[in-house]
Amino acid sequence: ELQAPKPKKPRISGPDAKFGARIVVDLGFDDKMSDREIISLCSQLGYTYNSHRKAVQPFSSLLFTSLNGRTFTRLEGQSNAAYKRWAGTEWWTEGYERLWDRHQDNSVESTVMTCSERDMVVYLTADAEEELEELKTGDTYIIGGICDHNRYKNLCLNKAKAHKIRSARLPIGKYLANLPTRKVLTVNQVFDILVTWVETRDWEKALYAVMPKRK
Ligand code: SAH
Repeated sequence: ELQAPKPKKPRISGPDAKFGARIVVDLGFDDKMSDREIISLCSQLGYTYNSHRKAVQPFSSLLFTSLNGRTFTRLEGQSNAAYKRWAGTEWWTEGYERLWDRHQDNSVESTVMTCSERDMVVYLTADAEEELEELKTGDTYIIGGICDHNRYKNLCLNKAKAHKIRSARLPIGKYLANLPTRKVLTVNQVFDILVTWVETRDWEKALYAVMPKRK
């Protein structure tokens, strides 16, 4: 039986056109992945961009950091470096530390700024103790750009601790009783959950949109 295509959700216009938070995908894990995993990661980045592009209310910024190694080479070789034409994305060869380091020019004022910038950054990871309650405008959420088939437990958590930034996990255990509290998802799954939360302001809906209930 044929099903009618789902109607497209209209994008929001006006001052609420975007949700004023930034998503960073940290691509600083090239040395931890096999060639196949780099390829999987790059597909996940493509799906992520696609969701960003189609979002009813997209994040104000989608930034990819540490684009400098094997992931860079793979993206350059893919469809004529299509990533360079992904609208509304930003790419840094430097790590995300530049978010706060760029304010460090030795004056007292800029030191204050450095601290507050860092306070507004949250590294998302399934290994975090803290559970994400809501996304706040003005905050920056980092997703680890790695496909590691669960080899590296606490990798992103330890990176967040080393950089003295907050960390949080998605509230999976609270809403999906049949799944482990610390279930590890892919980059695009996490992005889809965040973008659906912005649209619905409802974690249950956002989580089920990506991980449908078993029939
Ligand atoms: N071993 C890696 C897992 C990579 S999964 C780690 O140390 O995190 C890819 C990324 O998706 C993670 O780095 C994290 O940013 C995000 N992610 C996956 N599952 C998550 C969850 N349950 N809560 C929050 N973020 C999650």
